[in-house]
Parts: sequence; structure tokens; C-alpha cells
Amino acid sequence: MQPKTIGIVGGMSPESTVLYYQTIVRRHLAERGDHLYPRIVLASVSFGRYIELQHAGDWAGVAAGLAGEFRALAAAGADFALLAANTMHKVLGETNPPLPVLSIYDAVAREAKRSGRTRLGLTGTRFTMEDGFYARGLEARGLDVVVPAPAERAEIHRIIYEELIAGRVLPASRARFTEIAHALAARGADAVLLGCTELEILMANAALAVPLLPSAALHANLAWEIAVGAAPMPPASP
Ligand code: GLU
Repeated sequence: MQPKTIGIVGGMSPESTVLYYQTIVRRHLAERGDHLYPRIVLASVSFGRYIELQHAGDWAGVAAGLAGEFRALAAAGADFALLAANTMHKVLGETNPPLPVLSIYDAVAREAKRSGRTRLGLTGTRFTMEDGFYARGLEARGLDVVVPAPAERAEIHRIIYEELIAGRVLPASRARFTEIAHALAARGADAVLLGCTELEILMANAALAVPLLPSAALHANLAWEIAVGAAPMPPASP
């Protein structure tokens, strides 16, 4: 069977889009041992424009831009698409995509269930942690969330936008994030979701007392399985 073509809306940021690409191709090589990996079409946005829209609260502008990217992916032959950023799921329901979109929530929920985790510490951008959309997406899939304290949320948001999306991985930030993850575990989280696709770069190969769920890797792996027919596309759900 010819694998399906995966469309990726990426560049949000480029650091984590690379992870998606590598994860899909390496998973294929590891499991199939051939080079017949799925075709991938990438729409890599000019991220600065979106950062401005997000921080100005213009989410309709974000949705309109992403809708255009979905149309471009469909026109380029993608069979299904994914948004390679957790934050952008805030507006997925407003983008009216012309092709099926694999939600990152489904990838996270699948892994949480598989590993018996039900209460996730939710880390990510301020929008992801505070705006309620992400918690609702996980709750709709049977999971509870615990969010970091206000000062911790501010620190994670700063690390993402000032360091990680610029490709700067600092040991002090890794140490601070580790403290926050342990604080979430002390408050009842049985795993900590790296709910920003750059956080798994910060925490690469970390061995903490609490398990870390890497959202981008989980999303990319599920996309590969769907593309090669090893997993079904979950039903569309907000
Ligand atoms: N990549 C990040 C995420 O997964 C943040 C970038 C963005 O604001 O979309 O949420």
C-alpha cells in the first residue's frame, strides 16, 4: 500500500518542525527498513507574523492564516494534515480545513492511556496553560490536567519565546523546568505533558522522577502510523 501524504503546518517554530520530519522518517526506517516513507508536504509559516497576532490577541487572524496553509497543503496533495504546535490548536476549530486534521490531543491522549496516566501536568505557552482550550481538549478525551503556578507559567512562557524558538537551549532553563515538573508531580500529576513542541528539545534525554510526555514526538509518530495504515484516523473532535 502506498502511504498517505502527510501535510505539516510548521515553522512554529522551525526547531520543532525538524523534530516532526525526523521522527516520521526515522520511525519508518526503524520499523520498515526501507525508504518508502510517506510523502511529506510542509507549509512552513513566517512565524513572526503569528507571534505578533497571538500576543495581540488576534486569534481570528491566526485562524485565517492557518486556514490558508491547510488549503495549500490540500492543493499540494496532502491526504491529512497536522498543526505542528500545541498553541495553534486554540483555533483549529475555526480554520474550516478542506482535509482531515490529526489533533495533537489525540496523540497525547493515546499515549497517556497506554501508559496508564490520567492526570497530566500541563506545560506550554501561556495560551496553552491558561486559555482553557487545551485542558478542554484533554478532558474531552478522559484526562485531567494540573497547571503550573502563575510564576512558573510566566517562566515557561519566557523560556519558550525568548530561548527555545531561537534555538537556545540553556542548562539553567532545563534545571528550572525540572523543578516545575517535580512541583506538578507533588500536586498530583502522574505525568508531565511537554505541551509545547519545543519543550522536548529543552528536556531531551531527561530522566526525571515523573514521566514526561513529548507532544511533538507523539503527534509525529501517530501521523506516521496513520499514513502507513497502522492506526486509524481518530474521528474529528474539538
Ligand atoms: N511550538 C509551540 C507550541 O507547541 C509554541 C509556538 C506557538 O506559539 O505556536 O505551542
